[in-house]
Amino acid sequence: MKTYNTGLINGELVTLHGTQVIDLINPSNNEVIGKVTMADETDTRNAIAAAKKAFVSWSQTTKEERLNYLQKLYDAEMLVMEELVEATITEYGAPQERAIGSNALSANIFQHVKATLNDYQLVQTIGQSQVFFEPVGVVAIFTPWNSSAGSMHIKLAPALAAGCTVVIKPSEMSAMQTDVLMKVYHSAGLPPGVINVICGLGEVVGKTLSLSADIQKIAFTGSTQIGKIIAKDALNTMKRFTLELGGKSPNIILDDADFEIAIPMAVRACFLNNGQACIAASRLLVPKDRLQEVIKLAKATAESMKVGDPRDPEVILGPLASLKQYDRVQQYIQIALEEKAELVTGGPGHPAGLESGNFVKPTIFAGVTNDMTIAREEVFGPVLAILTYQTEEEAISIANDTEFGLIAYVSSSDHDRALAVARKIQAGRVLINTIGHDPLTPFGGFKQSGIGREGGILGLEEYLEPKAIITA
Ligand code: NAD
Repeated sequence: MKTYNTGLINGELVTLHGTQVIDLINPSNNEVIGKVTMADETDTRNAIAAAKKAFVSWSQTTKEERLNYLQKLYDAEMLVMEELVEATITEYGAPQERAIGSNALSANIFQHVKATLNDYQLVQTIGQSQVFFEPVGVVAIFTPWNSSAGSMHIKLAPALAAGCTVVIKPSEMSAMQTDVLMKVYHSAGLPPGVINVICGLGEVVGKTLSLSADIQKIAFTGSTQIGKIIAKDALNTMKRFTLELGGKSPNIILDDADFEIAIPMAVRACFLNNGQACIAASRLLVPKDRLQEVIKLAKATAESMKVGDPRDPEVILGPLASLKQYDRVQQYIQIALEEKAELVTGGPGHPAGLESGNFVKPTIFAGVTNDMTIAREEVFGPVLAILTYQTEEEAISIANDTEFGLIAYVSSSDHDRALAVARKIQAGRVLINTIGHDPLTPFGGFKQSGIGREGGILGLEEYLEPKAIITA
């Protein structure tokens, strides 16, 4: 059994001081596969001090130097890609295809940010004056358990590009991936203290970072509930923050869509990463008079999805990342039944023969109304809620009747019509006839799905402070 007790502080892989140790568990069978030391306050303060010291010279590096380091990070990550994919499958239960795809995206972020920085004017002339875009300072990065490397690099790369130094606190449940990533950051040869990584609990490491006066910005991905706590802590010292939070994304299928394509895609969009995705299209909105057709197609798609060993290339749904998450999803299924949603397929319990891991049956409910719990709260599992609408206006109104606003989906054969609907949806991103990704566009939430944006030019600017210099 492997022990994870290392942090990356001031350019060195050091043994952490923390005495608290938690189990790392394989979600496919719930066996303990590692022991993880949680960093303590001393480790956190050491990491902050290293980042603060490194900021003095890193903030003065040239754009060319930083472009060069972004390339080195990309190269270093590519060298350990197999190990990273393996860790993602083992500790998260991510199916092979998903693990490969998400880690490839995470490495490519270094290339996208490199291109963005290359084109960005860090000094701009406005009339007679100049505006200098300077690094915001030391950044604390927090990431969730459901997408480690990607949500880390979408913060790390622009922070470094801007000239900031960082302290990363990954989820305590991603020790294996963090171990690989620490090696990447260490081997890329950045000056000591520019990237620091410590694995630890939110209430200890997270809290110390959010309250520290030596941190100038927080970049957080996680739940809306924790995002609110962090924002309050951050305001104690007027830190800047970007928050990427939860979602309850609507997927509107317009009556002119090709249902044979749109419905199977809608099921996949909900069950992405075993349903543990902030962008999961968990509310499927369909025309009322087409409901039976939708149910038939959705049921067939869900029942054709193989659940099981995430290493099996045919498997679409692996286990949920933790027993806690499994229990949570089972509770939501139970609540949906109690609230009289109609079970189309799946339902409570494990799929047959998969009782020892956190496997959930791909589950679909029809007859869902937007006031039901599964239409309002983030389930974070493979549970799709089908709702009906009678008019386009009603579809838009149901889509917007949520506290979240991260992403939305629209399917139609008429682009102009789909675009008009997309314009009326309160969400930071709307995908028309696709479940694809465009890394150059900004990503982030309306309403309680977050504050600020990641990716593209706006994502870089989140780490820059404009300074106007006006001369007589
Ligand atoms: P979480 O909010 O429980 O934890 C996120 C991170 O915050 C972890 O590293 C955790 O240790 C840390 N943390 C916890 N308490 C803290 C505190 N008091 N102070 C500082 N840090 C603290 O989220 P999770 O359960 O790990 O992840 C799932 C959530 O993340 C879902 O709600 C999901 O929608 C969201 N998410 C959002 C996006 C996005 O881009 N919008 C992407 C992925 C996940």
